[in-house]
Amino acid sequence: MKVMPMRKGSLHMRPLLILLLLLCLGCGVKRPDNGPPPDHKLTVLVQPLGPIPAAQLDSVRVGLVLVHGAEVRIAGQVELPASAYTTLRSPRYRADTLIAWLREVKPDSVDLILGITAQDISITKYGADGAIKEPTWKYRDFGIFGLGYIGGPSCVVSTFRLGDGRGPVFFDRLLKVTVHEIGHNRRLPHCLDPGCVMRDAVEHLSSVDAAGRGMCAVCRQRANRY
Ligand SMILES: [Zn+2]
Ligand SMILES: [Zn+2]
Repeated sequence: MKVMPMRKGSLHMRPLLILLLLLCLGCGVKRPDNGPPPDHKLTVLVQPLGPIPAAQLDSVRVGLVLVHGAEVRIAGQVELPASAYTTLRSPRYRADTLIAWLREVKPDSVDLILGITAQDISITKYGADGAIKEPTWKYRDFGIFGLGYIGGPSCVVSTFRLGDGRGPVFFDRLLKVTVHEIGHNRRLPHCLDPGCVMRDAVEHLSSVDAAGRGMCAVCRQRANRY
């Protein structure tokens, strides 16, 4: 019987290989998402898309600081990306394309980026069956106040439908829509509390006006986790 000589070190190598393999497998396992450390300060970059008056940027900043406790930076004005332009119903910009574009330009040094524009923005609205909501002529390209996906890194707000651009009612609406969209980015869904800024604004300014400026206790608690 031929006895194979044992390769030197092979018995010691095996546990090491297993350990390395386990470590590599560990790299692919997603850590349970417990959010940022408690001392983390949310940073938001406000990106004007086209000219935005300083008073409007101030209103946005105040909302994000007071309600979200954010550190806010204001970027220099840039032009809206041509890729978002549509004439489906009227000349305006697609909010979903703007959000995707903002995600690409967001610096790693900030948590979230919020685009603000005076241009009208729109989305396609779908019904529960996945088809475009009826009447399709209205919902294929539907004008909105703002858009932010839950947990996304970017959102967009338009002043086009919010009023005169100057008065207290306008600034109140701008603040609420801004705080609401960043709330979505902080993983908050819509809230049923009628006084909460996260209530569904649906399609009407009256809903925006009826909502409070701040988050209800439940939303505040939830937002603290992210
Ligand atoms: Zn919403
Ligand atoms: Zn709420």
